[in-house]
Amino acid sequence: MDVIDSLVDAVGRTPLVRLNRVTEGLSCPVYAKVEYLNPGGSVKDRIALSMVEDAEARGLLRPGSTIVEATSGNTGVGLAMVAAQRGYRCVFVIPDKSSAEKIAVLRAYGAEVLVCPGNVPIGHPEHVRSVSERVAAETPGAWLSDQYNNAFNPLAHYRSTGPEIWRQTDGRVTHFVAGVGTGGTITGTARYLKEVSQGRVTVVGADPESSVYAGGEGRPYFVESVGHFRHPETTEDLWPEAYDQDLVDLFERVSDRESLLTARDLARREGLLVGGSAGTAVVAALRVAARLGPDDLVVVLLPDSGRIYLSKVFDDGWMRHYGFLDHEGDGPAVRDLL
Ligand code: PMP
Repeated sequence: MDVIDSLVDAVGRTPLVRLNRVTEGLSCPVYAKVEYLNPGGSVKDRIALSMVEDAEARGLLRPGSTIVEATSGNTGVGLAMVAAQRGYRCVFVIPDKSSAEKIAVLRAYGAEVLVCPGNVPIGHPEHVRSVSERVAAETPGAWLSDQYNNAFNPLAHYRSTGPEIWRQTDGRVTHFVAGVGTGGTITGTARYLKEVSQGRVTVVGADPESSVYAGGEGRPYFVESVGHFRHPETTEDLWPEAYDQDLVDLFERVSDRESLLTARDLARREGLLVGGSAGTAVVAALRVAARLGPDDLVVVLLPDSGRIYLSKVFDDGWMRHYGFLDHEGDGPAVRDLL
């Protein structure tokens, strides 16, 4: 029989798909790593599995344990999927900026979800990280997976995402483009690709315009799960341990408008229904590809699906309300913005 024992065995091995229409006029090929085809719907399934397996091996997770995490949503879904299969309870602490769909999906997997204000500084008692630490400390048998500082986050990408991209491109990838949230994706994938290519792969971070990773001033922005927003009252600057900035060769800074319109464009013109952070990454990839030629090969990672943003990115009323659509229906074609 052609079967697998558990859905968890279907994590990874996602397709690498050529972008054909949004790349019109470019001579450099651009391929998209379509991470929403993971069974939990995002790139984060990879790290959920690797962090849980490490915690089990170290005896931190046993049947009946509770997994606690501060998550913008996708890591929670990956953890909830693994937890459902192995009998763990889940408590997720999520900022109120995350879409209603993400919260509903987490609850559908049986997780308990605490929604916290997204506009308080790190260190504030209501900040998602403070609440997750408190819940973990107060819950017997709890394990805080701590994706921002867990080495098994970047390691998952070093062991799976990087080797997959290298194999799928027959070693011809020259540029890798991804957003930076915890930094795990770009760090682990970049480390592998740079090692295996002896430094020939250029790594590009795609950052929301006002995020601090690429030197922005840290104002809030709409795109979820990438970049880092610094509250004006924050004194500590908590750089995730999962992120090694030395592996990023250059950054492209991308506005909310470009990111969100590009996500819509990818659905309509490539049949790729992806979230806003995939839009951010594709804008950066197209800018990079425009400076390259036919002997180069750009790979861009698309973290998750547009289905969990139907009430935002794909809702014309929401887009118009925030000034991202000038006219009824379609916004300007993405190429006009580059
Ligand atoms: N985009 C989305 C939709 C995500 O969920 C995440 C993970 N938070 C990222 C981008 C960034 O990935 P990473 O945390 O590995 O930097």
